[in-house]
Amino acid sequence: MGNRGLRDIGWAPTIGKMLDDGVLVYACCSRCGCQKAVNLINLIEVKGRNYSLFNRRNKPCKMLPGCPGYNYFATNRWGGIITPFRDSATGLKWQSEPHTQKSAGQA
Ligand SMILES: [Zn+2]
Repeated sequence: MGNRGLRDIGWAPTIGKMLDDGVLVYACCSRCGCQKAVNLINLIEVKGRNYSLFNRRNKPCKMLPGCPGYNYFATNRWGGIITPFRDSATGLKWQSEPHTQKSAGQA
């Protein structure tokens, strides 16, 4: 209470810990606004409990075909507010990137 700006800096649990703690995780898109709940149990089967989604993203967007955005992860950790799961330096870096388009993929 009263320290919303501070949150818990350095909080970057593995997906195993998130499952134990009941943290909900969402994949979100930087462009199209799609948001989808991540099934941690399925993800742990693929990646293992020690995998972390912190400061991680996928390019390009997997939720809307042809979307040039990237998918990042967010959690409901702070009072039910969906908050990006990354540190602020990484957030700034991603947001300041030029929107380059690779010629490899089809539109
Ligand atoms: Zn998208």
